Amino acid sequence: MSSYSSPAIVLRRIDFGDYDLIITFFTSTQGKFSAIAKSAKKSTKRFAGILELFSALNVVYSTGRRKGLPVLQEANLKHPFPSIRTSMLKTAYASYWAELINEWMESGQKQVEIYQLFQYILRKLDSSQASEAALSILFQMKFITLSGLAPNLRQCSVCRIEVENIKETRVQFDFTKGGILCDGCTSKTLQKTFLSKGIIKQLLWIEKGDLVKAVRVRFTSDALRESLEFLETFVPYHLGKEPRSLKFLKQIRKW
Ligand SMILES: [Zn+2]
Repeated sequence: MSSYSSPAIVLRRIDFGDYDLIITFFTSTQGKFSAIAKSAKKSTKRFAGILELFSALNVVYSTGRRKGLPVLQEANLKHPFPSIRTSMLKTAYASYWAELINEWMESGQKQVEIYQLFQYILRKLDSSQASEAALSILFQMKFITLSGLAPNLRQCSVCRIEVENIKETRVQFDFTKGGILCDGCTSKTLQKTFLSKGIIKQLLWIEKGDLVKAVRVRFTSDALRESLEFLETFVPYHLGKEPRSLKFLKQIRKW
């Protein structure tokens, strides 16, 4: 039997029988993996209620020689992020981000930058230092960029003319091509939208800036909405399905 330890964030928790929980962790050293937390449901001493969604922990787990899930041995709470779980809207946003990580990341694949991104965004969400919507723009933009799927917002996807040289103030975005189109290169696809040039500039700023700078980008309420509508279409389009938590988020978000 071998033991490992790592900083981890709780992505998902599922009941397993009467006593146990299966927890999916996102760790800085091992990427995503699931482990069984024995007696976590029944015993208040065992993990003392710290295996809550989005909690940042230090975990110790062991893997046996036989096949099966790793077994959680110890968990120490680092950041409980309590205000996320007491707000339905914050929980809905955090659930969407967690589902993206859970769906997109392969088990056991180390993703340090995405781990740092998730932890940073959860901290900002917990302390209400930025609006939920602005943090979701930041998370999605950085997440898809780190995953190598950033939308092409710099130049026309067909003729490569730079965005600054496109005359229209609202620029077409073609989801099938994953990028913008100039006026001369209109496409017949129905899967397109329009983005204002100002929003394109802000999204590019977020894409290339570090997190501390990116979180300072200020959006008007119209820009927030337009950016979110764009990203919440673009990201599921690449995922190949609409995350369940996104449906819930759209239901409870009042616009
Ligand atoms: Zn073009």
